[in-house]
Amino acid sequence: MAKRQRKPPRYQLEAELKKRIPANLKAQAKNNSYSPPEYYEDLRFQCVDCGADELWTAEQQQWWYEVAKGPIFSTAIRCLACREKLRDSHQGTPRRTHAERCRDVGKAD
Ligand SMILES: [Zn+2]
Repeated sequence: MAKRQRKPPRYQLEAELKKRIPANLKAQAKNNSYSPPEYYEDLRFQCVDCGADELWTAEQQQWWYEVAKGPIFSTAIRCLACREKLRDSHQGTPRRTHAERCRDVGKAD
């Protein structure tokens, strides 16, 4: 009598369906976490600016954490369109004007 093939449990099928990229813990930005992300998988999130449903892919996360050395607790909050809009509005790095800096320290210059 042939043994019936056992069906793999659902959690195993789901893990195979989801694309997981194992993390290179040594490449991540320095952190004191006991539980750094050990793998990356596609993550759904809602853009804080326009509310669009967006996908932060496993590949993008790997780049962010291991190449750009993003803080391991940081996560995507804006869609690509909103990030580009924000980047254009301050032309790269956010900068404050000379007047704003003087106002902050409370003296005219
Ligand atoms: Zn957006």
